[in-house]
Amino acid sequence: MKYKSSILMTEFVTHDVKRFIIGKPENFIHEPGQGVELVINKQRWKDEEGRPFTPTSLPHDQVLEFTIKCYPGHHGVTEKLHGLQPGDELFISEPFGTIRYKGPGVFIAAGAGITPFLGICRHLVSRGNTGNHQLLFANKTKNDIICEKELRHFFGADSFFILSKENTPGYYHGRITSELLRETVSDFSHYFYVCGPEGFVTDMHVALQSLGAEVESLVFEE
Ligand SMILES: Cc1cc2nc3c(=O)[nH]c(=O)nc-3n(C[C@H](O)[C@H](O)[C@H](O)COP(=O)(O)OP(=O)(O)OC[C@H]3O[C@@H](n4cnc5c(N)ncnc54)[C@H](O)[C@@H]3O)c2cc1C
Repeated sequence: MKYKSSILMTEFVTHDVKRFIIGKPENFIHEPGQGVELVINKQRWKDEEGRPFTPTSLPHDQVLEFTIKCYPGHHGVTEKLHGLQPGDELFISEPFGTIRYKGPGVFIAAGAGITPFLGICRHLVSRGNTGNHQLLFANKTKNDIICEKELRHFFGADSFFILSKENTPGYYHGRITSELLRETVSDFSHYFYVCGPEGFVTDMHVALQSLGAEVESLVFEE
Protein backbone atom coordinates (compact mmCIF):
# COMPACT_ATOMS: atom_id res chain seq x y z
CA MET A 1 0.00 0.00 0.00
CA LYS A 2 1.34 3.36 -1.05
CA TYR A 3 -0.07 5.71 1.60
CA LYS A 4 -0.88 5.72 5.32
CA SER A 5 -3.26 8.11 7.04
CA SER A 6 -5.46 8.37 10.10
CA ILE A 7 -9.13 8.96 10.68
CA LEU A 8 -10.08 12.49 11.75
CA MET A 9 -13.81 11.96 12.25
CA THR A 10 -16.73 9.71 11.35
CA GLU A 11 -20.49 10.27 11.31
CA PHE A 12 -23.58 8.44 10.14
CA VAL A 13 -25.02 9.44 6.75
CA THR A 14 -27.81 6.86 6.87
CA HIS A 15 -28.59 4.12 9.41
CA ASP A 16 -25.87 1.86 7.94
CA VAL A 17 -23.60 4.24 6.00
CA LYS A 18 -20.84 6.30 7.58
CA ARG A 19 -18.77 9.20 6.31
CA PHE A 20 -15.06 8.92 7.15
CA ILE A 21 -12.89 12.01 7.03
CA ILE A 22 -9.23 11.15 6.97
CA GLY A 23 -6.07 13.16 6.54
CA LYS A 24 -5.02 13.45 2.90
CA PRO A 25 -1.59 11.87 2.43
CA GLU A 26 1.01 14.07 0.79
CA ASN A 27 1.14 13.56 -3.00
CA PHE A 28 -2.19 11.69 -3.07
CA ILE A 29 -4.06 12.72 -6.23
CA HIS A 30 -7.29 11.16 -7.52
CA GLU A 31 -9.79 11.84 -10.26
CA PRO A 32 -13.46 11.96 -9.21
CA GLY A 33 -14.99 8.50 -9.73
CA GLN A 34 -11.78 6.57 -9.12
CA GLY A 35 -11.49 4.03 -6.30
CA VAL A 36 -8.69 3.07 -3.91
CA GLU A 37 -8.05 0.01 -1.77
CA LEU A 38 -8.17 0.48 1.98
CA VAL A 39 -6.54 -1.71 4.63
CA ILE A 40 -7.05 -1.23 8.37
CA ASN A 41 -3.76 -0.84 10.25
CA LYS A 42 -4.65 -3.13 13.16
CA GLN A 43 -3.66 -6.68 14.14
CA ARG A 44 -5.61 -9.34 12.19
CA TRP A 45 -6.64 -6.76 9.53
CA LYS A 46 -3.38 -5.24 8.28
CA ASP A 47 -2.30 -8.42 6.45
CA GLU A 48 -5.66 -8.73 4.65
CA GLU A 49 -6.03 -7.77 1.00
CA GLY A 50 -7.34 -4.25 0.45
CA ARG A 51 -11.02 -3.63 -0.16
CA PRO A 52 -12.13 -1.06 -2.76
CA PHE A 53 -13.80 2.23 -1.77
CA THR A 54 -14.29 5.53 -3.56
CA PRO A 55 -13.20 8.95 -2.32
CA THR A 56 -16.28 11.21 -2.28
CA SER A 57 -14.26 14.36 -1.54
CA LEU A 58 -12.97 16.76 -4.17
CA PRO A 59 -9.46 16.32 -5.59
CA HIS A 60 -8.40 19.71 -4.20
CA ASP A 61 -9.88 19.19 -0.69
CA GLN A 62 -7.37 19.13 2.16
CA VAL A 63 -8.88 15.89 3.52
CA LEU A 64 -10.20 12.66 2.02
CA GLU A 65 -13.81 11.58 2.52
CA PHE A 66 -15.12 8.04 2.12
CA THR A 67 -18.81 7.09 2.29
CA ILE A 68 -18.99 3.46 3.37
CA LYS A 69 -21.91 1.12 3.83
CA CYS A 70 -21.63 -1.49 6.60
CA TYR A 71 -22.52 -5.14 6.03
CA PRO A 72 -22.52 -6.45 9.62
CA GLY A 73 -23.70 -9.89 8.47
CA HIS A 74 -20.41 -10.44 6.60
CA HIS A 75 -18.33 -9.88 9.78
CA GLY A 76 -15.74 -8.37 7.46
CA VAL A 77 -13.95 -5.17 6.63
CA THR A 78 -16.91 -2.79 6.53
CA GLU A 79 -18.06 -3.87 10.01
CA LYS A 80 -14.54 -3.28 11.34
CA LEU A 81 -14.29 0.09 9.52
CA HIS A 82 -17.54 1.25 11.12
CA GLY A 83 -16.07 0.55 14.56
CA LEU A 84 -12.94 2.67 13.99
CA GLN A 85 -12.34 5.87 15.92
CA PRO A 86 -10.46 9.11 15.23
CA GLY A 87 -6.74 8.36 15.34
CA ASP A 88 -7.07 4.84 13.90
CA GLU A 89 -4.92 4.32 10.82
CA LEU A 90 -5.65 3.16 7.27
CA PHE A 91 -3.37 2.18 4.41
CA ILE A 92 -4.48 3.52 1.04
CA SER A 93 -3.51 2.31 -2.43
CA GLU A 94 -2.95 4.37 -5.54
CA PRO A 95 -6.28 5.35 -7.15
CA PHE A 96 -7.56 3.17 -9.98
CA GLY A 97 -10.66 2.60 -12.05
CA THR A 98 -12.54 3.35 -15.22
CA ILE A 99 -15.38 5.55 -13.94
CA ARG A 100 -14.63 9.12 -15.02
CA TYR A 101 -16.79 12.02 -16.12
CA LYS A 102 -16.86 12.18 -19.92
CA GLY A 103 -19.73 14.57 -20.58
CA PRO A 104 -23.44 15.20 -19.93
CA GLY A 105 -25.49 12.11 -19.30
CA VAL A 106 -27.50 9.93 -16.99
CA PHE A 107 -26.18 8.59 -13.68
CA ILE A 108 -27.74 5.25 -12.73
CA ALA A 109 -26.83 3.87 -9.30
CA ALA A 110 -27.95 1.30 -6.77
CA GLY A 111 -27.16 1.63 -3.05
CA ALA A 112 -23.51 2.40 -2.27
CA GLY A 113 -22.95 2.49 -6.05
CA ILE A 114 -23.73 6.20 -5.77
CA THR A 115 -20.27 6.93 -4.28
CA PRO A 116 -18.32 7.53 -7.53
CA PHE A 117 -21.15 9.79 -8.71
CA LEU A 118 -21.11 11.79 -5.47
CA GLY A 119 -17.45 12.59 -6.15
CA ILE A 120 -18.14 13.43 -9.80
CA CYS A 121 -21.23 15.58 -9.10
CA ARG A 122 -19.53 17.52 -6.29
CA HIS A 123 -16.65 18.20 -8.67
CA LEU A 124 -19.04 19.37 -11.41
CA VAL A 125 -20.76 21.73 -8.95
CA SER A 126 -17.41 23.11 -7.81
CA ARG A 127 -16.69 24.01 -11.43
CA GLY A 128 -20.15 25.50 -12.02
CA ASN A 129 -21.23 22.67 -14.34
CA THR A 130 -24.74 21.80 -13.16
CA GLY A 131 -26.81 21.34 -16.32
CA ASN A 132 -28.02 18.52 -18.50
CA HIS A 133 -27.64 15.55 -16.17
CA GLN A 134 -30.16 13.05 -14.89
CA LEU A 135 -30.07 10.65 -11.92
CA LEU A 136 -31.85 7.35 -11.39
CA PHE A 137 -31.02 6.00 -7.92
CA ALA A 138 -32.33 2.64 -6.71
CA ASN A 139 -32.57 1.68 -3.04
CA LYS A 140 -34.62 -0.64 -0.85
CA THR A 141 -36.26 2.05 1.30
CA LYS A 142 -36.23 5.84 1.68
CA ASN A 143 -33.99 5.50 4.77
CA ASP A 144 -31.32 3.77 2.67
CA ILE A 145 -30.84 6.72 0.27
CA ILE A 146 -27.37 8.22 0.65
CA CYS A 147 -27.23 12.06 0.49
CA GLU A 148 -30.78 12.39 -0.89
CA LYS A 149 -31.08 16.13 -0.20
CA GLU A 150 -27.76 16.92 -1.84
CA LEU A 151 -28.64 14.82 -4.91
CA ARG A 152 -32.09 16.41 -5.24
CA HIS A 153 -30.45 19.82 -5.01
CA PHE A 154 -27.99 18.95 -7.78
CA PHE A 155 -30.33 17.13 -10.19
CA GLY A 156 -33.60 18.91 -9.32
CA ALA A 157 -36.54 17.58 -11.35
CA ASP A 158 -34.12 15.29 -13.20
CA SER A 159 -33.65 13.04 -10.14
CA PHE A 160 -35.67 9.84 -9.86
CA PHE A 161 -35.53 7.77 -6.69
CA ILE A 162 -36.69 4.17 -6.97
CA LEU A 163 -37.58 2.10 -3.90
CA SER A 164 -37.94 -1.69 -4.16
CA LYS A 165 -39.35 -2.35 -0.67
CA GLU A 166 -41.44 0.74 0.01
CA ASN A 167 -44.31 2.43 -1.80
CA THR A 168 -43.96 6.10 -0.84
CA PRO A 169 -45.43 9.20 -2.53
CA GLY A 170 -42.75 11.12 -4.46
CA TYR A 171 -40.71 7.96 -5.13
CA TYR A 172 -40.96 5.34 -7.85
CA HIS A 173 -41.78 1.86 -6.56
CA GLY A 174 -40.08 -1.27 -7.92
CA ARG A 175 -36.87 -1.61 -9.92
CA ILE A 176 -35.16 0.24 -12.74
CA THR A 177 -36.61 -1.40 -15.83
CA SER A 178 -36.55 -0.64 -19.57
CA GLU A 179 -40.02 0.89 -19.17
CA LEU A 180 -38.84 3.25 -16.42
CA LEU A 181 -35.76 4.21 -18.45
CA ARG A 182 -37.95 4.96 -21.48
CA GLU A 183 -40.28 7.06 -19.29
CA THR A 184 -37.57 9.09 -17.54
CA VAL A 185 -34.52 9.37 -19.83
CA SER A 186 -34.74 12.27 -22.24
CA ASP A 187 -31.87 11.36 -24.58
CA PHE A 188 -30.32 7.94 -25.28
CA SER A 189 -27.38 9.45 -27.18
CA HIS A 190 -25.86 10.81 -23.93
CA TYR A 191 -23.38 9.05 -21.64
CA PHE A 192 -24.72 6.54 -19.12
CA TYR A 193 -22.78 6.23 -15.87
CA VAL A 194 -23.74 2.96 -14.15
CA CYS A 195 -22.62 1.70 -10.71
CA GLY A 196 -23.99 -0.87 -8.27
CA PRO A 197 -23.92 -4.63 -7.66
CA GLU A 198 -22.70 -6.74 -10.59
CA GLY A 199 -26.15 -8.02 -11.59
CA PHE A 200 -27.52 -4.48 -11.53
CA VAL A 201 -24.78 -3.20 -13.87
CA THR A 202 -25.41 -6.08 -16.31
CA ASP A 203 -29.19 -5.53 -16.25
CA MET A 204 -28.73 -1.80 -16.93
CA HIS A 205 -26.42 -2.50 -19.87
CA VAL A 206 -28.92 -4.86 -21.46
CA ALA A 207 -31.82 -2.44 -20.91
CA LEU A 208 -29.92 0.63 -22.14
CA GLN A 209 -28.66 -1.05 -25.28
CA SER A 210 -32.15 -2.35 -26.06
CA LEU A 211 -33.29 1.28 -25.93
CA GLY A 212 -30.61 2.47 -28.36
CA ALA A 213 -27.66 3.44 -26.15
CA GLU A 214 -24.26 2.85 -27.77
CA VAL A 215 -21.82 0.51 -25.98
CA GLU A 216 -19.19 3.29 -26.07
CA SER A 217 -21.52 5.60 -24.14
CA LEU A 218 -21.69 3.26 -21.12
CA VAL A 219 -19.28 4.21 -18.32
CA PHE A 220 -18.84 1.66 -15.52
CA GLU A 221 -16.18 -0.06 -13.40
CA GLU A 222 -14.59 -2.64 -15.70
C1 LIG B 1 -14.22 0.04 -7.33
C2 LIG B 1 -15.14 -0.13 -6.14
C3 LIG B 1 -15.43 0.94 -5.34
C4 LIG B 1 -16.26 0.79 -4.22
N1 LIG B 1 -16.55 1.89 -3.46
C5 LIG B 1 -17.36 1.75 -2.39
C6 LIG B 1 -17.67 2.89 -1.56
O1 LIG B 1 -17.21 4.01 -1.80
N2 LIG B 1 -18.51 2.70 -0.51
C7 LIG B 1 -19.02 1.46 -0.20
O2 LIG B 1 -19.78 1.36 0.75
N3 LIG B 1 -18.73 0.37 -0.95
C8 LIG B 1 -17.91 0.48 -2.01
N4 LIG B 1 -17.58 -0.63 -2.74
C9 LIG B 1 -18.05 -1.97 -2.27
C10 LIG B 1 -17.14 -2.45 -1.11
O3 LIG B 1 -15.84 -2.65 -1.58
C11 LIG B 1 -17.68 -3.76 -0.50
O4 LIG B 1 -18.97 -3.55 -0.03
C12 LIG B 1 -16.83 -4.20 0.68
O5 LIG B 1 -15.52 -4.51 0.28
C13 LIG B 1 -17.45 -5.45 1.30
O6 LIG B 1 -16.86 -5.59 2.54
P1 LIG B 1 -17.47 -6.59 3.67
O7 LIG B 1 -17.61 -5.90 4.95
O8 LIG B 1 -18.64 -7.29 3.12
O9 LIG B 1 -16.34 -7.54 3.99
P2 LIG B 1 -15.38 -8.54 3.31
O10 LIG B 1 -14.27 -8.53 4.28
O11 LIG B 1 -15.10 -8.26 1.89
O12 LIG B 1 -16.18 -9.91 3.37
C14 LIG B 1 -16.36 -10.63 4.60
C15 LIG B 1 -17.11 -11.90 4.35
O13 LIG B 1 -18.38 -11.61 3.80
C16 LIG B 1 -18.63 -12.43 2.68
N5 LIG B 1 -19.37 -11.65 1.68
C17 LIG B 1 -18.87 -10.64 0.93
N6 LIG B 1 -19.83 -10.16 0.12
C18 LIG B 1 -20.95 -10.87 0.38
C19 LIG B 1 -22.28 -10.83 -0.11
N7 LIG B 1 -22.65 -9.97 -1.07
N8 LIG B 1 -23.19 -11.70 0.41
C20 LIG B 1 -22.82 -12.58 1.36
N9 LIG B 1 -21.57 -12.66 1.88
C21 LIG B 1 -20.65 -11.84 1.39
C22 LIG B 1 -17.27 -12.82 2.15
O14 LIG B 1 -17.29 -14.11 1.57
C23 LIG B 1 -16.38 -12.81 3.37
O15 LIG B 1 -16.25 -14.06 3.95
C24 LIG B 1 -16.79 -0.50 -3.88
C25 LIG B 1 -16.48 -1.59 -4.70
C26 LIG B 1 -15.68 -1.42 -5.82
C27 LIG B 1 -15.38 -2.62 -6.68
